[in-house]
Formats: sequence, structure tokens, C-alpha cells
Amino acid sequence: MVYPVRSRRSRGISIGINLFPHKKVCDLDCIYCEVDNPGTSGIQPSSELLKSELQQYFTEIKAGRLFTNERINDIAFSGDGEPTISPMFAEAVRIAAATRAEFANRELKLVLITDALTLHRPATRAAVEELLQHNGEIWAKLDAGTEEYYKIVDRGNAPLERQFNNIREFGIIHPLVVQSMFLRVHGVPPPEAEVDAYIDRIRKLIADGVKMIRIDAYTVARPTTESYATALADAELDAIAARVRAAIGPRPPVETYYSKS
Ligand code: SF4
Repeated sequence: MVYPVRSRRSRGISIGINLFPHKKVCDLDCIYCEVDNPGTSGIQPSSELLKSELQQYFTEIKAGRLFTNERINDIAFSGDGEPTISPMFAEAVRIAAATRAEFANRELKLVLITDALTLHRPATRAAVEELLQHNGEIWAKLDAGTEEYYKIVDRGNAPLERQFNNIREFGIIHPLVVQSMFLRVHGVPPPEAEVDAYIDRIRKLIADGVKMIRIDAYTVARPTTESYATALADAELDAIAARVRAAIGPRPPVETYYSKS
């Protein structure tokens, strides 16, 4: 359930928590999804397992036997699905917070990587607000400007408007990072009109008072669920990021994560 990675976006080591080691469970079906979990691991998620694995990693880190001289940036809820729909999400937040307190690293963040589709639910809100009290940070997905493109790329049952409104309502109260995937679909990069619609949404979020820490624009970096979902060239991603920057100004910053860097 716990998997450390060297993370580009964390700029250091990120200790990942996977609440779905047994199989992928998500409320989206993104064409670019990089989760490869056929459901054969035989590992059942549990509080005990999570606690014990976190303890093991942090004991090794504290003793200087693991990631020596590397910065441990965060404990991140990510893994093989949408963390907030796990029945043990709230408990897992408490366990991660307790681990962070025990290892007494005030800089260590608790990061939630989420598709934002459940942020309107009181139970999710309560758990996320607890996470925020422990140097938490939310990275919320927004991949599309139009419902039509969202259905092509994210293939969600819930409407894009729900994701957008959840980011809006949550982000007005709590600062968050917006993370957006830009890619080729059947060889075709995001159409101009789609990028315009995405930029309109970002501008509306900012105008409405969303406290956006930054926008992470990224592209495909690993094998995807659908082979027709492929990476943009660096220059193509740069061009989209430049259009966003031109529309919103220097704040929030737009950072780019390429296919091979
Ligand atoms: S939200 Fe994440 S885990 Fe779920 S399908 Fe999309 S990329 Fe995969």
C-alpha cells in the first residue's frame, strides 16, 4: 500500500499511499490512465497494513538507511484509483497524519491527488479538511474545457460541471493545485477551441476567487490504457502553457512536465 517514488512534481521523494492494491477503483476511466493493476495482487487494503508499511519506510528514512541526503517532500494519496472513494480514506488520512507527527518533520506535506468529483460530499470534505490541517495540499484534476472533450479524455459518468464546481467551491476556501493532462488523441493534439474553453474555465475559477497555488500542465509519460492516447511534444505542451500564462498573467504559475524529463 506504500510505494516511495522520486517525483518530478514533488521535487524530491514522495511516499505514495495506494488504497487500491487489490484492483483499480476509480470514478473516471481516463484514456491516458497509467494504472496497471489487473486485480491479481491478492493484497487487501487495511489500516493495519498501511500503518505498518508507513512505519517501516519512515523508520528506515529516519535511521538514514533509505533516501539518504534526499528531500522527503510528501506522503501522497494517489495509487490505483481515486483515493476519496475508498471506504478507508478518512482512516488513512488519520494514519498518515499520525505518521507525519511521529516522525516530526514539519516540512513534510500530505498531498491528495484527486479527480475532485467527490469534494462536494460531506464525508470527503471532512477527511480532506483534516488532511489540510497537517500541511496538506490538494492537487485537483481538470483536463478539459468542454463536456465533449472531457467525455473523450476522462470518460467520466459524472459531468464535467461537477468537477469544475467542486474545484470552484473548495478552492475558494482552501488553496489548491490544478493539474491538467494535455495529450494527443488518435494523433491529434487538443484542438484550439478546446484549449480556449479550458482557459476560460481557469479564468473563471480565478475570477471567482479560487486560491490556485499553481497549474501543473503535463503530458503522457508512461504506457496508457488506450494506445491512441499519446504524449505531446515538449514544444506543443510549452505552447499550451504559454497560452494559459498569456491569459492569466504570472500568478498562479504554470509548470510543465514533459513526456521524457
Ligand atoms: S483519475 Fe487517475 S486513476 Fe482514475 S482513471 Fe483517471 S488517471 Fe486513472
